[in-house]
Amino acid sequence: MTPKTIRLTETGRLTITWDDGSVCEYPLAVLRRNCPCAACLADAQTRSASFIPLYTRDALTLDTVEPVGHYALQFRWKDGHATGIYTYAALRDLCPASGATAA
Ligand SMILES: [Zn+2]
Repeated sequence: MTPKTIRLTETGRLTITWDDGSVCEYPLAVLRRNCPCAACLADAQTRSASFIPLYTRDALTLDTVEPVGHYALQFRWKDGHATGIYTYAALRDLCPASGATAA
């Protein structure tokens, strides 16, 4: 499955429409918190599960989204963080349950 369209909403969410017609709307904080780069993964492993990291505004602002091959997206955040490669499979897993994104 691959993204057909990717766009940022005015409310600061990333909307991906997949080629099967399903739509996922991701709060940027969820994407950032699940950054799959080595540094963030190591970070996540050393903190308790109940700890929710706080981010600066820049850390939650997307500069660019670029495709990586035919399997992933690379997000470049405004704070300069750009090492996370989000595979399509991982993005599908992060997709908020349908219905939960209304409003
Ligand atoms: Zn990261």
